[in-house]
Amino acid sequence: MPELPELEAFVRAQRDRLRSEPVAEVPVAHFATLKTVDPPPAALVGRRFSEVRRRAKRLLFETEDAGPVLMVHLMSAGRLAVGPGHPKSSVLAVRFEDDTELAMTEGGRKRRAGAWLLTPEAVAEQLAHLGPEPLDPAFDTAALKAALEQHPHRLHAFLRDQRAIAGIGRAYANEILHAARLSPYANGASLTPEQLERLHAAIVGQLSEATERLIPLSQKGLAAKAGHDYRVHDRLGRQCPVCGNEIRQVSFDEHTIYYCPTCQTDGRVLADRRLSRLLRD
Ligand SMILES: [Zn+2]
Repeated sequence: MPELPELEAFVRAQRDRLRSEPVAEVPVAHFATLKTVDPPPAALVGRRFSEVRRRAKRLLFETEDAGPVLMVHLMSAGRLAVGPGHPKSSVLAVRFEDDTELAMTEGGRKRRAGAWLLTPEAVAEQLAHLGPEPLDPAFDTAALKAALEQHPHRLHAFLRDQRAIAGIGRAYANEILHAARLSPYANGASLTPEQLERLHAAIVGQLSEATERLIPLSQKGLAAKAGHDYRVHDRLGRQCPVCGNEIRQVSFDEHTIYYCPTCQTDGRVLADRRLSRLLRD
């Protein structure tokens, strides 16, 4: 599932190229992927992307003179490639005048990834609910504290809540909490100042390191999974790279959380809350 680092690396690796030529054609726009009909895809033809940017887990391709904005949300299985032509399985393709194409594909049979062609005002409206961007210089410890107070969830749920903080999903929530040496179940509103500092440093550090690492792997499109170097995520039973003890997993809210008991929970093994709720009821 692409999260902030994959998407941000794509933007940094591809934005100059995607802004250099006007759109010549939109050869593919699958009806299940393109969620809007007005303006039509042809409205992009002849226009140049003036900006390519990311907001939370969405990519925004803005056009000159406040023209239509192409918004893309890849969900879990959507992928983007940039190069000559587009794969047969593309669900969306945009061809530029130099014959380079931006192509979106989606693995599996379900069509969950989406694209929208919207006015700049409609985009602003659709993004208004999103929380702060963690790589924005304005996102300091005080901003994190304010977000934690407004969204008093357990930390793993807080990090995944796009209204609380933008762009983080399951994988980086696991990585961030491991780096911060905090329990996924800790209550976000009752962290000590020192824990808050650690969490802030881990959010910014993990996301920016991963983004930098993925930029060279994004030259042909969205970085593939091979580019990951997770320390706890999806590593059940493997050794924690910090303490050497075993990585555990626990189910919570239909998510699987990976963590190191030694580094994060004073050695305690977390109970599966879904299961314990079933037993209690
Ligand atoms: Zn550990």
